[in-house]
Amino acid sequence: MPQLSGSGEPLRVHDSASGTVRTVQPQSPARLYVCGITPYDATHLGHAATYLTFDLLQRVWLDGHLDVVYVQNVTDVDEPLLERAARDGVHWEDLAAREIDLFRQDMEALRILAPAHYVGAVEGIPEDVDSIRSLLANGAAYRIPVSAAEGAVQAQAQDVYLDLSGQPTFGEVSHLSRAQMLEVFGERGGDPDRQGKRDALDPLLWRAAREDEPSWPGESLGAGRPGWHIECSTIALTYLGMRFDVQGGGTDLIFPHHEMSAVQATALTGEQPFARAYVHQAMVGYQGEKMSKSKGNLVLVSALLRDGVDPMVIRLALLAHHYRTPWEWTDQDLVAAAQRWSAWLVAASQADETEEVSDLETRTVQQIRARLADDLDAPGAVAAVDAWAAAATAGLPVSRAVPSAVDALLGLDLLS
Ligand code: ZN
Repeated sequence: MPQLSGSGEPLRVHDSASGTVRTVQPQSPARLYVCGITPYDATHLGHAATYLTFDLLQRVWLDGHLDVVYVQNVTDVDEPLLERAARDGVHWEDLAAREIDLFRQDMEALRILAPAHYVGAVEGIPEDVDSIRSLLANGAAYRIPVSAAEGAVQAQAQDVYLDLSGQPTFGEVSHLSRAQMLEVFGERGGDPDRQGKRDALDPLLWRAAREDEPSWPGESLGAGRPGWHIECSTIALTYLGMRFDVQGGGTDLIFPHHEMSAVQATALTGEQPFARAYVHQAMVGYQGEKMSKSKGNLVLVSALLRDGVDPMVIRLALLAHHYRTPWEWTDQDLVAAAQRWSAWLVAASQADETEEVSDLETRTVQQIRARLADDLDAPGAVAAVDAWAAAATAGLPVSRAVPSAVDALLGLDLLS
């Protein structure tokens, strides 16, 4: 990211755990963990909105002269991925590799700054095994036998679950009631009906190897694979440690995923909080429903790019919506963004190499900074650029000041 002169303001963001908008003023390096994709049907516009939100967050921090350690996982082995691979008759590893590749191309096209660490669930399995063994050793986890009739491939196979009754911090991320938790747990990867669990909500830590499922050595756990949430607890602890600055993802990850990731990390370390702030992107709808793989109503970034849509227009279309406001994608979003982008390009094309920066330009840069620092108000920042573009088109002399700020802070390339 190009460094601008001066410095941005301290970032304020909405923290789902406390329910407040508050200043996140980290020590350098600032530490960010964003939950990555499960690599199938990537990258739909709901994903793109999420990674764009945290891209803005990283840019605000960088503009404030902080170093940033940004970690993102990719859930490259999980139930939904295996199901999709089976449905399509492809090997799950090939499906994952293809979709990860596509995801990275989409992110690059949208000019989303890459994380410092992009970690696959599979490569994190040895650390997961260590974590789960230590949870068993300190009595925080328990085993449930799996019989051959249930598909176990090893004798004395056992699944492992976290015992939530020993975790007083459980609930502190989502603040949902037990009834609300039970309502969504099953839909979002949980297994409330599994026989032998001490509590319906206890999260799976280790799934013993089953027939026709991939598995890895688990030392004393036996062969198997980790549950979804322990993957993120362990990767975050490995690369960031406890009390990192921001945990990010879509609002559909608040429970159970972020709740369980946090409680597991606390069970492992005896410390809290897992993250200092939990920041969540609202859902993007399409044709009347949340855009989701399970509903199949997806608009893919790669499909738009294939149709010849300028990736900067896609980015600008997403920036027109505040990250905390649920919204629905329509064709009009692209039309409006394309018009706006043309107007900005016309304004920027008048830029010369002059060092002379007008008051309006200085004010516009300040406004972009101020709007983003105030809970990532991208629409507010876009409106400031609109006002500058209108003035430029009306004859105001144009330097490179605003295009440079649009590049650095909004990630849009007006000058090439
Ligand atoms: Zn995660």
